[in-house]
Amino acid sequence: MPYRAPVSDFRFLMDHVVGFDQVAATDHFAEATPDMTQAILTEAAKMSEDILAPLNRAGDLHPARLENGIVRTSPGFAEGYDAIATGGWIGMSASQDNGGLGLPMTLTTTVNEMLAGACLALQLSPLMTQGQIEALEHHASDAIKALYIPKLVSGEWNGTMNLTEPQAGSDVGALRTKAEPNGDGTYAITGQKIYISWADNDFTQNVCHLVLARLPDGVAGTKGISLFMVPKLIPDADGNPGTPNDLRVVSLEHKMGLHGSPTAVMEYSGATGWLVGEEHGGMAAMFTMMNNARLGVATQGVGIAEAALQHALAYAQDRKQGKAPGSGAILEHADVRRMLTTMKADTYAARAITLMNAVAIDMAHATGSAEWQARAAFLTPISKAFCTDVGCEVAATGIQVHGGMGFIEETGAAQYARDVRVATIYEGTNGIQAMDLVARKLMDGGEAAFRILEEIEQGAEAAKATHPQLAEAVWQAAESLRETTEWLAAQDDLNARFAGAVPYLRAFARVLGGHVHLASAVKGDASRARLATFYIKRMLPEHTGLLAHTREGATDLMAITADDLAA
Ligand SMILES: Cc1cc2nc3c(=O)[nH]c(=O)nc-3n(C[C@H](O)[C@H](O)[C@H](O)COP(=O)(O)OP(=O)(O)OC[C@H]3O[C@@H](n4cnc5c(N)ncnc54)[C@H](O)[C@@H]3O)c2cc1C
Repeated sequence: MPYRAPVSDFRFLMDHVVGFDQVAATDHFAEATPDMTQAILTEAAKMSEDILAPLNRAGDLHPARLENGIVRTSPGFAEGYDAIATGGWIGMSASQDNGGLGLPMTLTTTVNEMLAGACLALQLSPLMTQGQIEALEHHASDAIKALYIPKLVSGEWNGTMNLTEPQAGSDVGALRTKAEPNGDGTYAITGQKIYISWADNDFTQNVCHLVLARLPDGVAGTKGISLFMVPKLIPDADGNPGTPNDLRVVSLEHKMGLHGSPTAVMEYSGATGWLVGEEHGGMAAMFTMMNNARLGVATQGVGIAEAALQHALAYAQDRKQGKAPGSGAILEHADVRRMLTTMKADTYAARAITLMNAVAIDMAHATGSAEWQARAAFLTPISKAFCTDVGCEVAATGIQVHGGMGFIEETGAAQYARDVRVATIYEGTNGIQAMDLVARKLMDGGEAAFRILEEIEQGAEAAKATHPQLAEAVWQAAESLRETTEWLAAQDDLNARFAGAVPYLRAFARVLGGHVHLASAVKGDASRARLATFYIKRMLPEHTGLLAHTREGATDLMAITADDLAA
């Protein structure tokens, strides 16, 4: 399906809104010069538009399938993967020590968004591998790093993450997969994992599974979990794929969308595994992978939103219906204009939020500063949940713009909505993200949140001279958000926080959206100012209702009984 990479938006946001200049000014990321940045954006855009986007429909129509225990991928996916791997896009941000390019996560975020917008099902494979590389860099022994990371970076081998079991979904601590020491430094891994993305394929030489399992002396819950590297083919003495390990793909799921991405039930039957990180320290190691993947999944939401918007806009410029002025196309109707502008304004806000998040990760990496780390940690659940919600909402509105044709598969509008739907569910459901935001991420009493709010207010103050109305609206919104943040941080009863967690997260994202749109109006052309005016006047006010919802706490909500719901 046609897709045009939003290169000028990336460039504008990086140059004028999210502070990428700070990243490029660090010694650590000195290679991220404007020329290098432009070259990356241009090349990734070309690959996404010319090679990956044409594969998207084939992935939907010809799902990955299991044939005699081997996963056969959708037509063209092997070539698409090869283009991603040989282009060096998988290991862009991996450390140079292990063959990566050591480039900022901000650049990887732009590339991941383009890949996702072009072909989400295929993009999920390198995304998983990127997360695995980061987990190994932080937690694996030198021997494991040396053996696995270069192959993962080159894309010769791909990585997966294995957390979920039938009884252990959001509650990872309930997992039952066992790890028993073999007495030679390796472990025997036994158990079943479900929903494992890209657990096998017919284009990489090996598949590296990172598996969470419990050692015999592991206590119940998350504290007793350890992490293991369990390769499909056990590397021989030269590091080449050797004998098959005791694991297999049992079946592939029949899914609502994302058909090109194989989602497997995995059986481990005493498979040989190597410990990654400390015994019983598996969750810490897996969190490194999940945090990386959470920003990656956020970019999936933005990528699909962008693709769905482009698709809907093209249709709205062509379809004629009713007495529309001007071109006579449905785009001229106020309600269609409203839908498309809402799609555009939210996609833009979501993109800016992922890039702000990535800049914080890069600055934390380059400077080691606790403040940047706290900012990155605070923004991650907001990015993951808001941007995937935006992906779903924009794709759903895209169907609406198409009218009846949106419901007909041939237009492709429905595929975007089906493919992106899972992004609000995997990598921690959006509800769990919001709970993380109001509990763990407010454990500092709201310090990280207040620093961001201060920045938003300063931005609004500075914009008052040129855009007084817009600036005032953003400033007021930040003030309201500050009051509710103070209220939340003061709630000792966690359920009072959890009851309002989702509306609070969305309100925070709405206000961040106001901030980035305002900055774009100040620094950009008349087109960006018109989009900012739409967002700030018509979409930002949503925060008022969301914050009121947040502050209602849990009492009335939990008083509603199951019988009330069934009545
Ligand atoms: C296509 C696909 C690909 C996937 N890929 C992978 C993969 O590669 N690796 C992997 O390990 N897993 C993967 N998953 C699994 C995914 O991460 C889980 O589905 C997800 O974590 C939710 O778990 P669950 O499905 O058991 O839902 P449940 O945990 O049963 O949740 C059901 C509902 O209850 C809510 N809920 C649950 N617990 C709480 C709580 N404590 N407080 C408030 N609300 C709660 C949830 O938010 C959700 O709305 C994938 C899933 C899918 C569908």
